[in-house]
Amino acid sequence: MSEEHISVSQYFECLDCKGDLLEEIMTGVQLCTALTDMSELKNGTVEVEYNQFELEGVQWSDGVVDRYQCANCGWPVQDENSQNITNPEDLFEWLIEHKENRDKGDKS
Ligand SMILES: [Zn+2]
Repeated sequence: MSEEHISVSQYFECLDCKGDLLEEIMTGVQLCTALTDMSELKNGTVEVEYNQFELEGVQWSDGVVDRYQCANCGWPVQDENSQNITNPEDLFEWLIEHKENRDKGDKS
């Protein structure tokens, strides 16, 4: 298998709004970061501030991809069976296929 690289914004076009920004929605992600400050507000709620600069202190656990969706309108990328695509291999294939279809459409 040969390696292939694509720029997502050039390949993705939302079928709904024609947006080109694709985002990944994950579930079951555990984010771990260090607390730096806390303040109790007058209304009793407590705000917590986190260390935003020490990136090594941020750890992600393996989450599960729920879907890939248009960042503009939330349209989820789906396969031919109307199932959400949840792995990068299928997404890659989908992007190539739809770009090819669009290119063909442009010419006719
Ligand atoms: Zn969209």
